[in-house]
Amino acid sequence: MLKKSFICLLVVFYSFTSLAQDFKLVFDEPQTHYVTVQMTVDSKGGDLELHMPVWAPGSYLVREFSKNVEAFSAKGESGKSLDVVRNRKNSWLIKSAKGKISISYKVYAYELSVRTSFIDEDHAYLNGTSIFMFVKNQKQVPCTVEVIPFSNWRTMSVALDPVDASNQWKVKANNYDDLVDAPFEIGNHKVLKFTSSGVPHEVAMFGNANYNSEKLTADMARVTSECAKVFGSHPCKRYLFIVHNLSSGGGGLEHKNSTTLQTSRTGYGSESGYTSFMNLVAHEYFHLWNVKRLRPSALGPFDYDNENYTNMLYVSEGFTAYYDDLITRRCGFYSDAQYLEKVASGFSYCMNQLGATLQPVSESSFDAWIKFYRPNENSNNSTVSYYTKGAAVGAVLDMMIRGGSNGKSSLDDVMKAMYDMYAVKLNRGYTDKEFIEMVSKYAGSDMKSFFDKYVYGVEMMPFAAALKTVGCEITNANSNSQKTYLGIAVNTKNSITSVDRNSPAWVGGLNVNDEILGIDQYRFTDDISKYVAAFKPGDMMKVLVNRGGLLRTIEVKLTKSPFVEYLITDADKASESAKKNFSSWLSK
Ligand SMILES: [Zn+2]
Repeated sequence: MLKKSFICLLVVFYSFTSLAQDFKLVFDEPQTHYVTVQMTVDSKGGDLELHMPVWAPGSYLVREFSKNVEAFSAKGESGKSLDVVRNRKNSWLIKSAKGKISISYKVYAYELSVRTSFIDEDHAYLNGTSIFMFVKNQKQVPCTVEVIPFSNWRTMSVALDPVDASNQWKVKANNYDDLVDAPFEIGNHKVLKFTSSGVPHEVAMFGNANYNSEKLTADMARVTSECAKVFGSHPCKRYLFIVHNLSSGGGGLEHKNSTTLQTSRTGYGSESGYTSFMNLVAHEYFHLWNVKRLRPSALGPFDYDNENYTNMLYVSEGFTAYYDDLITRRCGFYSDAQYLEKVASGFSYCMNQLGATLQPVSESSFDAWIKFYRPNENSNNSTVSYYTKGAAVGAVLDMMIRGGSNGKSSLDDVMKAMYDMYAVKLNRGYTDKEFIEMVSKYAGSDMKSFFDKYVYGVEMMPFAAALKTVGCEITNANSNSQKTYLGIAVNTKNSITSVDRNSPAWVGGLNVNDEILGIDQYRFTDDISKYVAAFKPGDMMKVLVNRGGLLRTIEVKLTKSPFVEYLITDADKASESAKKNFSSWLSK
């Protein structure tokens, strides 16, 4: 037995010391938006298969990154060119590769989103899955990356360790997964610093913006430490925010020890813009636990060649969305009333989203690849968002756990216990069943039927009962409204962009792309909602449309608007225990 283990050790030692993957990134013409990638790989012989991922973890859509690869070539140790055969849309097969193989290819990068790569003369932002290839069956091999920057670029920010502390341009990763989970920002950006939970944090600020560095880093320290409180421990040695300050836009993508955020460069100046930036910080930072480490079993190790299916994005994304608002409130950026408005708007969404009666939120997670990330004109009728409904499920569960445990436990405890058990102790992903069991443990009763009805089914959640546990009441501001309803959305040219399922427009036969020309005997040029408001539920309305060059009149019978508009308020008559639950929920 001892001898056998000794042999095994030798095999492991051999395989890790003999293989290496070294990348060199050359930026000699960044104004053309290309980077040259040089890669050196040790091959034991036979064919060597290189793959470019088809997607970026965290963004569940096949993006076909190999479409931007050009001029792939490979040479053997002697410098002789090797034959290369294409065998998949995203892979290259190098024939008879033995010894040190030198590979070269170019990547065109001109899409400035958090999940893609972008290069111009000002900077390079690189997302690993759209730049680095991996060798089939060798993703565990350690990697190094050396950057040869454009002549006037001075700074590189990436959450990878330098090979040598005196040289910022060469970094290393334990394996391919770690390499591509660390985006690079290279150019002349500013770097701000702060410490949170004892961990050094850097903020790589690309682009001018109207922020106050001192206030910004102090507030980011508050938000990040509030996130860490939920989990009770911090797994990072250091953490990097890459912030792109742009003329417009927003969004973020989480990584293991870093994140990329895109925001409006003028947003820091207004209270609402500043608060939404802090909300974005909370969201992406919360992910360093929830999804980057505490993960559904399908989400790691990743299959970079195919879709990775899970029912659990309502937890990974939806619960993170629940916590981004809650943490923003706990840090005092929202008042109680503003926070309750957010919760009410999420609950209203669950009632008003027409697809919520058809698509369970678990299925919305599973189908993210083909539905959430590829919406069309019928999406509102057929889908529900695993972000918004997932956040509402998180809110209702949090309240029910607080109620069921007499204020002793909360969703915070579930998240922490899940993290401690599956990310830290077992170091593996969790299953749907394991998640339900953990919630049940803290709620003090079996919660399987809750999940069957509201997560894997499409029943409406018991909002009022859940809110009662934290001393709040819910009312519908539209309950007595006689607002008239047609059921379409239009663009600025009065062409229909969507038709609500079962609405008067749906029943009467109005179509997407119909251009509305007249209503009854009147030429129509205005906002249609004004016209509809002049009618009463039950009235008939004739709509003259241009459908593909032909005129036709569609008759519709208007109804009363079916939509709710929830308001949540503190209940005057709440019990003392519910009032206590309310305070501890918002950490006051
Ligand atoms: Zn997210």
